[in-house]
Amino acid sequence: MKVAVIGIGGSGSAALRFPAKAGHEAVGFEQFRPGHDRGSSHGHSRMIRKTYPDPFHTRMMAGAYELWDDLEREAEESLFVRCGGITFGPAGDPKLEATRRSLEEAGLPYERLSREESATRFPAIDIGLGSEAIYQAESGFLRATRCVLAQARLATAQGARLHEESPVLHLEEQGGAVLVSTASQTERFDAVIVTAGPWMGKLLAPLKLPLRTALRQVIYAGVTRNEELFQPDKLPVWIEEPSEYYGFPADGEMAGIKFASHDAGMDFDPDRKDRPVMAGHVERAMQHIATRFSDLSGEVIASQSCLYTITPDEHFILDRAPGSKRIIICSGCSGHGFKFTILLGKLAADMAASGRHDESTLPWSLSRFD
Ligand SMILES: Cc1cc2nc3c(=O)[nH]c(=O)nc-3n(C[C@H](O)[C@H](O)[C@H](O)COP(=O)(O)OP(=O)(O)OC[C@H]3O[C@@H](n4cnc5c(N)ncnc54)[C@H](O)[C@@H]3O)c2cc1C
Repeated sequence: MKVAVIGIGGSGSAALRFPAKAGHEAVGFEQFRPGHDRGSSHGHSRMIRKTYPDPFHTRMMAGAYELWDDLEREAEESLFVRCGGITFGPAGDPKLEATRRSLEEAGLPYERLSREESATRFPAIDIGLGSEAIYQAESGFLRATRCVLAQARLATAQGARLHEESPVLHLEEQGGAVLVSTASQTERFDAVIVTAGPWMGKLLAPLKLPLRTALRQVIYAGVTRNEELFQPDKLPVWIEEPSEYYGFPADGEMAGIKFASHDAGMDFDPDRKDRPVMAGHVERAMQHIATRFSDLSGEVIASQSCLYTITPDEHFILDRAPGSKRIIICSGCSGHGFKFTILLGKLAADMAASGRHDESTLPWSLSRFD
């Protein structure tokens, strides 16, 4: 089989590696260079966890964990920091309860911590009066840019061809093949996997995919004292409900601690040259984080922008393009998809090779939006 992968970000770097590994002819097209900072998969950390409020995502994460472990072994590089994770909020919060039920249904171990118990284990963070936490030891963070680069490197080492700085301008199914065109060439493929992230809607405009693109901000906040309490052995990754703020321990690569809001952002054209910092948002976020961490200096060490590609139900899309057997769409990671990208890439590659849709992924099919 000869397969093209369009967009070598989180999902595309995985989608390129698996067919190359299986001995297929795999060709990747990336409009910039793998590891660039204009899409969704750059930076030092992305949270990985099985703690989802719905059992489907908790179940699917089991497969993703195995693939991340394999990647780390094959890349001979530390890509996954296993620091554990807490989800916390007011006792009885519906999402907290749903997450607990989901873990129980999957038979996964977890601990329920009161505010005092959490403070004893993780002294840097105060989860707040009347709150409780769910601790799950398998959570942690992935070193995002390094994961993309490792997968692209392994794919090419296994025989994939990678066209960098080669935006795909057009693709078209014709006579039992798909023609993929850049400014300099048109090539025929048996199957094409489109993993264009924030650019999906533009590249596949005629399909009118239910996707919107939005700008999000992450902030690195300075720590003024007790720095040892912010290391991954003392501070887990954390999610606060219902505010949807989340954050990380010190990642060993940037000073301070990274945190963000899943919620606050604005619709954004990915072709815009700038990636503006939303000033009001940074101020509000710094005020919020000060209520959770008393050892912060109040200084914003860095603020980075990143793009979400969002579906109406915030679940992913993994499916054939309507009316096509050979074009596979893999996108809509909706701000929580990095941990799944390796699984999505593998499933897309399997779909390209077999021509079949794995039933376990039906909740990600396009038909749910009919
Ligand atoms: C601020 C922020 C925080 C996040 N935090 C988390 C987290 O903690 N945990 C988590 O699991 N997820 C998180 N996510 C979500 C996650 O990072 C994304 O869902 C994921 O990275 C999406 O990967 P992708 O492959 O779909 O897109 P991308 O990685 O953006 O890849 C798309 C690629 O396609 C290329 N491309 C586009 N069009 C073309 C074309 N025509 N020709 C050639 N190449 C093209 C682009 O240049 C790009 O490289 C976060 C996202 C953001 C923005």
